[in-house]
Amino acid sequence: MPNAAQTQKTDVVLIGAGIMSATLGALLRQLQPEWSISLFERLDAAAAESSDPWNNAGTGHSALCELNYSPQNPDGSVDITKAVDINERFQVSRQFWSYGVQNGVLGDPSRFINPIPHVSFVHGEDNVRYLRARYEALAPQPLFEGMEYIDSPDEFGRRLPLMARGRDFSDPVALNWTDAGTDIDFGALTSELLAYLGGSGVDLAFGHEVLDLSKQSDGQWLVRVRNLRTRQTRTLISRFVFVGAGGGALPLLQKAGIKEAKGFGGFPVSGQFLRSTNPGLIEQHHAKVYGKAAVGAPPMSVPHLDTRVIKGRHGLLFGPYAGWTPKFLKDGKNTDLFKSIRPDNLFSLLGVGVTELSLTKYLVSELLKSEAGRVETLGEFVPRAKGTDWELITAGQRVQVIRRKGMGGVLEFGTAVIAAGDGSIAGLLGASPGASTGVSAMIDVLQRCFPREYEGWTPKLREMVPSLGVKLSDNPELFREVWSWTSKTLNLDSAGVAAPAQV
Ligand SMILES: Cc1cc2nc3c(=O)[nH]c(=O)nc-3n(C[C@H](O)[C@H](O)[C@H](O)COP(=O)(O)OP(=O)(O)OC[C@H]3O[C@@H](n4cnc5c(N)ncnc54)[C@H](O)[C@@H]3O)c2cc1C
Repeated sequence: MPNAAQTQKTDVVLIGAGIMSATLGALLRQLQPEWSISLFERLDAAAAESSDPWNNAGTGHSALCELNYSPQNPDGSVDITKAVDINERFQVSRQFWSYGVQNGVLGDPSRFINPIPHVSFVHGEDNVRYLRARYEALAPQPLFEGMEYIDSPDEFGRRLPLMARGRDFSDPVALNWTDAGTDIDFGALTSELLAYLGGSGVDLAFGHEVLDLSKQSDGQWLVRVRNLRTRQTRTLISRFVFVGAGGGALPLLQKAGIKEAKGFGGFPVSGQFLRSTNPGLIEQHHAKVYGKAAVGAPPMSVPHLDTRVIKGRHGLLFGPYAGWTPKFLKDGKNTDLFKSIRPDNLFSLLGVGVTELSLTKYLVSELLKSEAGRVETLGEFVPRAKGTDWELITAGQRVQVIRRKGMGGVLEFGTAVIAAGDGSIAGLLGASPGASTGVSAMIDVLQRCFPREYEGWTPKLREMVPSLGVKLSDNPELFREVWSWTSKTLNLDSAGVAAPAQV
């Protein structure tokens, strides 16, 4: 039992200095400014794991270009349910960020969000047919207004010169093109939110690892934290804990022992990108272009060639290439996966091992890929790619969610909010669509964990997110209003951007 005199009391503990904790902290600061909040981050910097700009692809995921959100039905039609839902969630983020810019929470939006066309790209007759059907299903939707369908090689060459040069156009190509897309530096966004939190009295402790969480008889949480510089530990008592620890969330939720986390497991998948800083290449490409995942490959393996805008400079990124390590964080330990195996998730993990043979096959083939093999994959997008123009970088670590199903388990590629029934603790597992839809995920946390306060918070939440609780796709007028406000405030009106400076 800790010495009461040494135990600090706080209303809220946020674990991790990534985009999720930063977002939840900013929402709570606006809703309940008098609450005391302490944030602990084991590393010495903010957003140094998945939220770092080169650890993720920085796509403002709104299903404008990602084909895995609009699968083809057996009859050839396209199911756009998920695409519309992801886009709706991204509109929530745009609104909160716009409110933040107008209310001193965030600074100059061009530091974290920039307009970049989002493009879906396919080749081959069947795929072209699919993309035409996708366009016909999405273009009439209010949230996808302005989408274009392009299958002329000339127009392809005009818009995507780097991808056109050396291409054999006897293999038919098609694009779904929209100027409404964005590139987001989630690292810069996180840092801005944390600067706001620090400036408004939140205790931000870097180099502090949360070791353990245990529930007290009065329903509060005892949080044990180690200062990694001095090795000293201290304890806090908190009414509410948010586990925004990215890949470190599952182990902490397991330590907390809440029944809602039982049966969950994690499957780590590491990733690599090719990055080019060659100015000659960068100026020939100005889009985020997403292709189709190879047959049998998981959705997070969809190849894409992206313009990135980081610290005001443009760069190019291609990938991801999957890899495998048992670590749950990029800065994690090789024992992470092993230590996460518990009697309650053993069968979920074993079940996935048996059913996901195609994923195992895919990962093995990716692991065996040589440098030449990686450049060959890039060749589908950049036919004249040369290895010397690209460097290999290690991306963030994903921990895919494994959920109990029947006697076994199922591997999921989305994100999952896990919250205790009494609302005293919540955490976020999984990776995609991740940071882009973080605001709606954190509002979900507020709704589930603070049922008594939530109703009273609703007017303020509506100020931050005017479309709260409304489906914009069913309310085109409100969508246009919100779109015009967010485009103007976030400086996204200019579809094209100024001539790029290179990374
Ligand atoms: C390869 C890749 C590509 C991606 N591409 C995109 C994209 O294009 N668009 C998009 O929207 N999303 C993308 N994502 C997803 C997105 O990056 C994540 O969803 C998001 O960054 C997760 O934020 P987070 O705050 O939950 O976790 P993180 O940013 O990982 O932050 C968690 C923090 O918790 C800290 N921590 C862990 N354990 C402890 C502990 N015990 N004590 C204290 N601190 C701890 C970690 O050090 C870390 O800093 C991608 C992810 C990956 C890996």
